[in-house]
Amino acid sequence: MHELSLIQSLLTIIDEHAKKHKFTRVNQVNLSCGRLSSVEPSALEFAFKTLTPAGICAKARLELTILPMKIHCATCDQEFASEGADPTSCPHCRGDQVMVTDGWQELQLIELDVD
Ligand SMILES: [Zn+2]
Repeated sequence: MHELSLIQSLLTIIDEHAKKHKFTRVNQVNLSCGRLSSVEPSALEFAFKTLTPAGICAKARLELTILPMKIHCATCDQEFASEGADPTSCPHCRGDQVMVTDGWQELQLIELDVD
């Protein structure tokens, strides 16, 4: 489960922020990742709970935003975003020459809500 190591490095980053900005409690952690990244949201949640029984993140909520994937259509040369499954046709021209161009973003720390 690589979510454990993701959370581990996230907690290291949060600790550094805490030292630098002198906060003692994290209320919420906002993260994002691409729809096509290998991050499993429930495993992430589980890893976070497992690794933060005490300390500044003990009461923190984890908020994960899944970024939509971007698809390019070769027929009409337009880009579109997809929230759902792998699209097989373009919503603009109904062409099927579509290719996924983005959506693999790795886990990123967006914002911390702290006290
Ligand atoms: Zn198209």
